[in-house]
Amino acid sequence: MSDDKSDLTSEMTDRNCNTLGVIGAGQLGRMMGLEGTPLNRSFCFLGDAESGQPAAVIGPVLDRSNQATLAIFQKKVDVITYESENVNADWLEKLAGDTPIYPGLRALRSSQHRWREKDMFKSLGIETAPYVKVTSLEELTAAAETLGLPLVVKTATDGYDGKGQARVHTLEDVPLAWQALSGSDAKAVELIAEGFVQFSRELSVIAVRSVDGDIQYYPMTENFHSEGILSVSRMVPGSLSEETRQTAMSYVQKLLEHLDYVGVIALELFDTEQGLLANEMAPRVHNTGHWTQLGAVTSQFENHVRAIAGLPLGDTQALQPYAAMINLIGRLPNPEKILQMAGTSLHLYGKSARPGRKLGHINLIAGTQDELESKISLIQQEL
Ligand code: AMP
Repeated sequence: MSDDKSDLTSEMTDRNCNTLGVIGAGQLGRMMGLEGTPLNRSFCFLGDAESGQPAAVIGPVLDRSNQATLAIFQKKVDVITYESENVNADWLEKLAGDTPIYPGLRALRSSQHRWREKDMFKSLGIETAPYVKVTSLEELTAAAETLGLPLVVKTATDGYDGKGQARVHTLEDVPLAWQALSGSDAKAVELIAEGFVQFSRELSVIAVRSVDGDIQYYPMTENFHSEGILSVSRMVPGSLSEETRQTAMSYVQKLLEHLDYVGVIALELFDTEQGLLANEMAPRVHNTGHWTQLGAVTSQFENHVRAIAGLPLGDTQALQPYAAMINLIGRLPNPEKILQMAGTSLHLYGKSARPGRKLGHINLIAGTQDELESKISLIQQEL
């Protein structure tokens, strides 16, 4: 064993880092750690140079590209989770060996490919926009005819925050969309063409399932994006019909049971005149659930830790009638102004500012809608 490795091993033993292993060392891992620490869980992260290391304040961040540190991670952790679905599932399976991975590989693989994801939704009776799988310009042209215009065309893999997506309004846009999304290797292209959904709003539902199969649901949120990135989420139970809530919960329940899922899941939905349509799922704690840190009895982060550690789930009820979360993207407000506001909490991730980068968020709770909206306006002016 090299000196480097023995140093690391003793450091980790000292910290009792023998429990939860997280792939990634960003803000989601950090927030899992912040809320798992009172449950006496230790954390060990696998980071890479690109993502930065917000989670380093919680526990050791090991280098994902170093075989020696990977071996230590394998030996030390009792369960593995991840903070992003952009993890190579084959690599993760090999890394984990007999160590449980929660949420499991089936959930991870389904969320990584829009064909698999949409086919799974369909097989479970979860409604989606009409879609067609596309591998050539001819198939994209045919899809425009079958589905009608406008269309939303997306890469089957690697799309996030509105990237890897093109709109087709007229038949002339078809080759442009193909060109924009097919990249250099036009032989290996996998796209999905979706009918354009006329939604009244975008919603998400977050739920958690324990090792024993217990499921708890958080109140749903309505989500607003700016330039493809989530900007504001508002908890909206009061403005949803019972039917909408029941449909959303039944969609999530089907997914959780089908995937024998453990941990927090997020399902993004379009609210339409024809009912709810599922857009995509995320097999992890989710940006639209950050409000639960201040607004719910048990946050999504604590419940994820509870679930993957085999503990009973916590209460997902809201503490106040209104709650919201505002993302801090690209730059930060004057913290003093935010900290002076009642019913508000500020989360900074310790990342350097860069356009389009999530640097933190603000959670808000309020007794009335007016109070919530006036706080949101004040903060938006500040930003
Ligand atoms: P996605 O990458 O699938 O999360 O899509 C990013 C955003 O594009 C969504 O939040 C919607 O605002 C919009 N979008 C995605 N799919 C559709 C669709 N089929 N119809 C209309 N808008 C869509």
